Order: sequence, then structure tokens, then C-alpha cells
Amino acid sequence: MESIYQSDTKRAFLTFDDGPSTITPKILDILKQENVKVTFFVLGTNINGRQDIVKRMYEEGHYIANHGYTHSYSKIYLSPQSVLDEYNQCNDAVKNAIGVSEYNSHLFRFPGGFPGGKYADLKKEAKQLLSQNDVLNIDWNALTGDAETNQLSIEFELSRLSETIGDKNSVVILMHDSSTKSVTVEALPQIIANLRERGYEFKNFYEIIK
Ligand SMILES: [Zn+2]
Repeated sequence: MESIYQSDTKRAFLTFDDGPSTITPKILDILKQENVKVTFFVLGTNINGRQDIVKRMYEEGHYIANHGYTHSYSKIYLSPQSVLDEYNQCNDAVKNAIGVSEYNSHLFRFPGGFPGGKYADLKKEAKQLLSQNDVLNIDWNALTGDAETNQLSIEFELSRLSETIGDKNSVVILMHDSSTKSVTVEALPQIIANLRERGYEFKNFYEIIK
């Protein structure tokens, strides 16, 4: 996974965390129109009642990855085992939603990101345990800043994107499809156009992980 940030050609992985929510179908509509496949790091608790959205993600060729079950740091970061348990709980919810009993995304994103913070040591141990269970983890190396302020605007997201991409060739871009991120929906067509203008080709993790 470390090599994900290295590439000779320009490529962009759009990733959405914390969904599905009421705004996710709008994101799926835009992605369909633009013919872009992305990666969703879904949250187990948010799948309940929104199985149809997860099924749609899957059927439309997006990668369904795993962001745990509760997103509650005090629950998921109790122990390395509780991280793996939440991975499995979320994976079970995905399996039920898409109706594929053998589905395993093999890809996890730690709530709050992997490095540093109060739970840094526990996350390191959890990473080992996940990897023993064939689960990789990935963070991001660029973002639209849609979790940085409550005063979001399209201009803000585009400018944070440009700043964080810099001169990188291979970018994994963090965004969110939780219900409060309607500005991200509004910004998405411009985000896609901007990346295309800069020569980035869109990828999702099905091309990396079998
Ligand atoms: Zn999150």
C-alpha cells in the first residue's frame, strides 16, 4: 500500500468516508454522469436502512471499502481486537447489503486516520492484526478539506484540493459523504473537471486489490 503514492503517470483515487447517507445517491448520480469510479469507506452503522445505496455503489462499479462500525474512538480503539471486530461487523453489513456472501473489501481506513494521536500505539498493533487477516489500510495524501470547517464553500474545497495535491502524481483524495456535506456534492463536478484538466486519470482500488 505504501507504493500507492508512487506513480509515473497521473492518477487520482477519489475516496468518500463516513457514508452512506442521504447525499450519497446524489454523489452516485454525478459519478455515473461523469463515468468516474471511486472508493467508498462505508460506516457499518450507516448501512442500516440504506442497503439499497450500498448495493447501487457495488453495481455501478465503485469499490466498497471499510471504515469500521461505530466511528466512536472509545469503542473501536479499545483494543486491536475491537478494531478487527468492527471491520468484520462492517463487512457483514456490506455483505448483507450487496447480497454477496463471500465479499471482503480487504481495505480499511482507520477513523481519524492511521498515524499519531492518542491511540497511535494501539493503531499500530491493530494494523498488524488486520494485516494478519489480509486487511490492508490506507489513509490519503490529498483532501478537499470538507471536514476542516463548518463554513464550507466550493471555492474552499477546490483551493484545499489544489494546495494538498501540489505536484504529486498519485493522489488518494479524502472527501466525505456524510449527510452534512452537501457542499461536497455541489463541488464534485468541478473537482472532477479540475483533475481531468490537470491530466489525472481516475482509479479505484479494484485495480490494485484483487
Ligand atoms: Zn471518518
